[in-house]
Amino acid sequence: MRKDTAIEDLLRPGGALSVYLPGYEYRQEQERVCLAIEEALSTGRHCLVEAGTGVGKSLAYLLPAARAIQQGYTVCVSTYTLNLQAQLVQKDIPLVQTLLPEAGIKPAVLKGRGNYLCLQDLEVAEQSLFGYNDPLMQRLKEWASKTATGDRADLDFAFPAWADVAANVDTCRHQECRLYDRCFYYAMRTAAAAANLLVVNHALLLSDLIVRQTEPGASLIPHYDIAILDEAHRLEDAATSAFGIEVNNARIHHFLDRVAHIRGINPDKARIEATKKVCEKLFATFPRGSGEYAFEDVLNPASEEQLHELAGEVLLGLQAIVQELTAHAKEAEVDTVRELLEGLARRGSRLREEMEQLIFGNDPNYIQWAECNSASQDGQNLPRRSQRQAHTTLHYSPVIVADILKKALWSNVKSCVLTSATLADTTGFTYVRSRLGLEGAAVEHIEGSPFDYARNAILYVPRHLPSPKDIP
Ligand code: SF4
Repeated sequence: MRKDTAIEDLLRPGGALSVYLPGYEYRQEQERVCLAIEEALSTGRHCLVEAGTGVGKSLAYLLPAARAIQQGYTVCVSTYTLNLQAQLVQKDIPLVQTLLPEAGIKPAVLKGRGNYLCLQDLEVAEQSLFGYNDPLMQRLKEWASKTATGDRADLDFAFPAWADVAANVDTCRHQECRLYDRCFYYAMRTAAAAANLLVVNHALLLSDLIVRQTEPGASLIPHYDIAILDEAHRLEDAATSAFGIEVNNARIHHFLDRVAHIRGINPDKARIEATKKVCEKLFATFPRGSGEYAFEDVLNPASEEQLHELAGEVLLGLQAIVQELTAHAKEAEVDTVRELLEGLARRGSRLREEMEQLIFGNDPNYIQWAECNSASQDGQNLPRRSQRQAHTTLHYSPVIVADILKKALWSNVKSCVLTSATLADTTGFTYVRSRLGLEGAAVEHIEGSPFDYARNAILYVPRHLPSPKDIP
């Protein structure tokens, strides 16, 4: 890749940026970060950059990224938060497109499946869950007929049962879906295939790595040559969560409730109730109000044996329910009923597999741990009633993600840029590199904040507010 000094000219006083950006102030720190990243991209190395608040990191990596795109590479920018994603899409990327039109940037934002309305599940939910005259359902249908994206972010009212109508891996029939031609999720993916600047979040980036590792030829996001990970200090946590498994009592209850209330079939309610009760006993094995702890810290040999027995019963209950759903699906004559039953059977199967791995898994790199009295991520996607029940979440998480990232990410891209305001410690990047498995030659750069905190900042301690501990 050719080293192009034009980037410096864009940033410097009197450059194009000062013309297009009202109130622009030149910052040497931003130029140095920009040049460090450009050096890494042009030499095919990875890059770690810590840049303090106010440096202008986004522009500092988007400008060299634009040059790489101009050379024919596809760049994937990943953030941890939606706020930063929105800033990139609404402000920074359009600015770089204006500054460097010759780069031919074609951006696309990709979100996880669960953000998009599934038209098949909408029909299924209307017939099996809500009834045709439900006012909320009517409102959602009206929105579905008008929205261009099907993206939940564009929904201007709350739909508490979004999890029942969102695209998901269990109920999706892919190309076999009768609504595939109108599918919002696949339309987004088709549009992204033509893009050369992909914007994703860490969760989707990591889910894509898992799919690529487990299903050769499959992916959730298109191929990219260069990855830029902003808010990279959150990468290890995001990877621990993505490469692990979590099951909470709300998720199991939600599934069982859903099966119990399917219209048109008469599921074995006694079995569903019995499975629910055993689940409650299983989750009650873990002391409430104890925060986060490893299984081994609270279980003794007797309670561990009891946990295994209860888990065995839950697995048998789920297996029988899945078999019953599959049998009903084979007999179903109406498309939507069959789709619902098959989708629920797949969901139950996955729940069973995850539960088995979580309780009986013995990978030495994984830890079993519990998190009590806090709503989990899954709980946030469930109906409000289920969220209240999300008191206990069981996890099976990798202790070290370094090897997984090394194999799945660092070795598969030409360059990877990690940046954050807090990435280094007193040893520089040694610690973070070891945690993330990022070995070998890399450009490293640390830049402080251009803000004069000593003169311009004030520390305010509100003494009149109650302590967070006192808020019920
Ligand atoms: S293709 Fe999948 S996500 Fe799209 S409408 Fe069909 S089932 Fe839903």
